[in-house]
Amino acid sequence: MDFQLTDEQRMIQSMVRDFAEKEVKPLAAEIDREERVPTESIRKMGELGLLGMIVPKEYGGSGTDYVSYAIATSEIARVCASTAALLSGANSLNCWPILEYGTEEQKQKYLVPMASGRTYGCFGLTEAGAGSDIGGIRTKAELEGDEYVINGNKLFITSGSIADTLTVFARTGEDPTRGLSAFLVEKETEGFSVGKVEEKLGIRGTPTVELIFEDCRIPKENLLGEEGQGFKIALSTLDGGRIGIAACAVGVAQGCLELSVQYSKEREQFGQPISNFQAIQWKLADMATQTEAARLLLYRAAAKKDRGERYTTESSMAKLFASEIATKIAIDAVQIHGGYGYTKEYAVERFMRDVKIFELFEGTSEIQRLVIARSLLK
Ligand SMILES: Cc1cc2nc3c(=O)[nH]c(=O)nc-3n(C[C@H](O)[C@H](O)[C@H](O)COP(=O)(O)OP(=O)(O)OC[C@H]3O[C@@H](n4cnc5c(N)ncnc54)[C@H](O)[C@@H]3O)c2cc1C
Repeated sequence: MDFQLTDEQRMIQSMVRDFAEKEVKPLAAEIDREERVPTESIRKMGELGLLGMIVPKEYGGSGTDYVSYAIATSEIARVCASTAALLSGANSLNCWPILEYGTEEQKQKYLVPMASGRTYGCFGLTEAGAGSDIGGIRTKAELEGDEYVINGNKLFITSGSIADTLTVFARTGEDPTRGLSAFLVEKETEGFSVGKVEEKLGIRGTPTVELIFEDCRIPKENLLGEEGQGFKIALSTLDGGRIGIAACAVGVAQGCLELSVQYSKEREQFGQPISNFQAIQWKLADMATQTEAARLLLYRAAAKKDRGERYTTESSMAKLFASEIATKIAIDAVQIHGGYGYTKEYAVERFMRDVKIFELFEGTSEIQRLVIARSLLK
């Protein structure tokens, strides 16, 4: 067992940390305050090859491994959870299903521009009546001649308002799971529009929107995979997506830890830095240990994926542990900052609001426990 990063992984880490410090961190508070999508960061991440890290070079990506992708996502999340969520979504949710299930034509038309950062995507699975239970999807796609006609609404879709190409799951049959199919929809398609834009607690630099489909006609060539394969496409995409979310959580935990160490050395009470108090030291020690434990689970899941082994349970474990511990670490970071940590002057306030989402999307913590328990009991 080798716990060392390769030279290439270390190089990626240092390059992304430098980019995050110089370009992402200065915008983090502003995009949160103004609920603004950091389009300039998206463009720059595209230029650096970060939006298609997991896509082979022949399809416009950088062709790196999943461990490198996990490292890069964590480095961005260390300074800005919103931007990290956009990076994670671009790779795992937007590019991966087309890479895995797309035809050569679909890859050339949709994946190549997405992986090279010229276009952006989104992953439209959730509906009002279908959250954890995607078998409850009601959006329909009916084949009429050479076209599928899509009708229905999707809810809570990250980046649905900025996406050029949307991956959308709709019902082509009655069976809750085998009746689902996946489709690629271009944003200009008649019958597609963006509905409600959510106002959120955190990751306010990511747009979360409703997608509306009213007699939205797409060519039948835009079916992704086969009819009835939608459930499998969704679940396998989320397996990889959970590595990205775990990476976001590890990055936030690391950011909170570093800010807390620094603050505790600067803040003086009772005539000395608060870092002299054992109560603070123990918190810092726990935060550091928990962050490292989450990172090891993350790297293990990513390394299993890189080796082509099954990794569903490991990615669920990584997401479950990393997201729950990162929430605790962010709350502890605010505690260490005292009243100042509750103000917008300090980044830990934003991190505490941002971090909660990692326990919710791409499968709640309860759903991760379900996945893990199933693998134990099968
Ligand atoms: C900011 C944000 C961004 C999002 N981005 C996207 C996106 O890009 N694409 C997309 O498709 N979706 C997206 N979602 C949706 C997200 O994936 C869902 O909100 C999530 O899967 C939970 O579904 P739900 O909200 O309907 O909760 P519900 O499924 O209604 O769950 C409510 C509660 O019940 C629990 N529960 C449900 N079923 C079980 C069970 N069997 N056992 C035990 N407990 C259970 C849940 O864990 C939760 O605690 C996003 C959501 C948010 C908030």
